[in-house]
Amino acid sequence: MRARRQLVFCFLAGLSLAGCIIQRPVNWPAVSNRRPETESVQALITESPASATINEEIDVPIIIYHHIKDDYNSNSEADKNYTVTVANFRAQLDYLVARGFTPILLSDIARYFAGDFKWPVKPIVITFDDGLISQYQNAWPMLKERGFKATFFIFTNPIGKNDNYFNWEQINELAEAGSEIGSHGHYHLFWDKITDQELRQEIIASKEIIEAKIGRPVIAAAYPFGQSNDQATQALKDAGYLVARDIVNGRSHQPAELFKLKAYFVTNDFSRFKTIVGD
Ligand SMILES: [Zn+2]
Repeated sequence: MRARRQLVFCFLAGLSLAGCIIQRPVNWPAVSNRRPETESVQALITESPASATINEEIDVPIIIYHHIKDDYNSNSEADKNYTVTVANFRAQLDYLVARGFTPILLSDIARYFAGDFKWPVKPIVITFDDGLISQYQNAWPMLKERGFKATFFIFTNPIGKNDNYFNWEQINELAEAGSEIGSHGHYHLFWDKITDQELRQEIIASKEIIEAKIGRPVIAAAYPFGQSNDQATQALKDAGYLVARDIVNGRSHQPAELFKLKAYFVTNDFSRFKTIVGD
């Protein structure tokens, strides 16, 4: 029953068949045996050693988008859960501008707790999952127009092979403009259903591939299907990630929860959006 529900969820999310059903990919791209040292990764994100460690609960909404497109069928469960129309997305961004929100990156939360990031008055973390091409075609121009940055979680296998997803040129454009590219694995597998070795391949291969392509450290991850567990969290930490997003709802976060950051799926329901982000 659980597997069936996950498969349905997967299709609802609009993922490719290959990304959904492969539970035992034949191979992953070669990865290094290097175990990144957290200190060296930390050094990449901070010019100078953190002068202070912040130990307090923070309040920031983290929101999740999938498809941003005009093709929206209100009778479709998939669209109801995973699609925001272009007009509605524009209205949501305009709402954020009017209310004075400042979009920050998911990894800025880790920087803040390390004493290395100035917390804005009204922060929000805008995230996009799966590297879907409609995000580049429809959402990105509107984000850029408003000077907004976002965190894009991509899984690396379809990149450069499948036109339904970003290509590396587009990904580089996002990164160069100040947005963040995070890992969502390589094959978008259920991380709770694979062996520890496969789990580490997913986590390390995707990180190394993105880093090689964009020339920047990848320190943020999002659990595919929100399947977070202690084993996956440990693998992320071992690979040098500093922060990970879950899909449990909530907007208060503690330093100890950096690998279980709470978030909300955003839908085409504008009043629900306002409730999630607040005034
Ligand atoms: Zn996903």
